[in-house]
Amino acid sequence: MIIIGGSYAGLSAAMALGRSLRKVLIIDGGIPCNRQTPHSHNFLTRDGDTPQAISIIAREQVLRYKTVQFIEDIAVNARQLEKGFEISTQKGPAYTTNKLVIASGIKDIHPDIMGFSECWGISVIHCPYCHGYEFRHKKTAIIANGERAAHLAMLVSNLTNQLTILTNGVAAFEAEQLQKFRDRDITITENKITEILHTNGHVQQISFEDASIQSFDAVYAAIPFIQHSDLPTQLRCELTEQGHIKTDSFQKTTTPGVFACGDGASPMRSIANAVYSGNMAGSMINAELCKEQF
Ligand SMILES: Cc1cc2nc3c(=O)[nH]c(=O)nc-3n(C[C@H](O)[C@H](O)[C@H](O)COP(=O)(O)OP(=O)(O)OC[C@H]3O[C@@H](n4cnc5c(N)ncnc54)[C@H](O)[C@@H]3O)c2cc1C
Repeated sequence: MIIIGGSYAGLSAAMALGRSLRKVLIIDGGIPCNRQTPHSHNFLTRDGDTPQAISIIAREQVLRYKTVQFIEDIAVNARQLEKGFEISTQKGPAYTTNKLVIASGIKDIHPDIMGFSECWGISVIHCPYCHGYEFRHKKTAIIANGERAAHLAMLVSNLTNQLTILTNGVAAFEAEQLQKFRDRDITITENKITEILHTNGHVQQISFEDASIQSFDAVYAAIPFIQHSDLPTQLRCELTEQGHIKTDSFQKTTTPGVFACGDGASPMRSIANAVYSGNMAGSMINAELCKEQF
């Protein structure tokens, strides 16, 4: 079995497979999406730990199963064979496998705003469940427009009543949405953002093209993403409209023998969901193999 990606989803799949005596090779590039966030939240038993601490203990526990191997490398090509798949990597030889798990996650595309990348995961955040509590009752901006901004405003207004939506261009809202914003004193700024001014990733102010400046303690940003690896495309796995790998409730993709889990295969972005879906993928692959062999 080969698992592409050895973060939370990949390790979780490996644990289910290792405990089922399956021979597993995890290939991991070592750059999980949450690497810059100082503390991870909302995952039972590990609330407030660093993302790295969670991965280290997960890897240590998974690698206790002698049939599981972990290599640091990047899978670059996937080829479908008559039976199974061939995966070639940047450093190593080509590996073959009968079933494949894609747990390679997604890559966030940062906007061209000075200071954005430095603050990402520290005070510019994507999710109220992961980091909203830490910024409760604070002066907060939402960088987004249209439906995504309205959705975030609905969630974040539960955590603070000092909310401004920065549309970074002409606002695109329905009359009903605008009324809800007015009822809750949520203001809208359409000015083009030039810079997020910060200290070590902690937002202080946001400056705009018209030279105005506003102060904030936290910023939510709804930004686009792409699959972290193009292996799903190489293997002709269908994607959803949003860009996630399409799976059924057992994490099977539309390409037989290929399973997908974690962020790459779900809009519910959290460690808990990555662990859940990885566990499901691992268990379902084992069940499929048992069925084939029984
Ligand atoms: C800034 C930020 C903060 C977050 N904070 C929280 C939080 O507090 N709590 C929470 O529950 N969730 C949080 N999340 C969400 C959480 O980090 C993700 O849901 C989770 O990391 C998804 O796990 P994953 O295994 O699917 O992908 P990732 O953790 O992104 O890991 C994917 C792995 O695959 C590897 N990979 C990619 N392509 C290849 C390839 N071709 N070959 C080999 N390896 C490859 C990568 O190097 C990486 O190691 C946060 C996300 C972000 C972006």
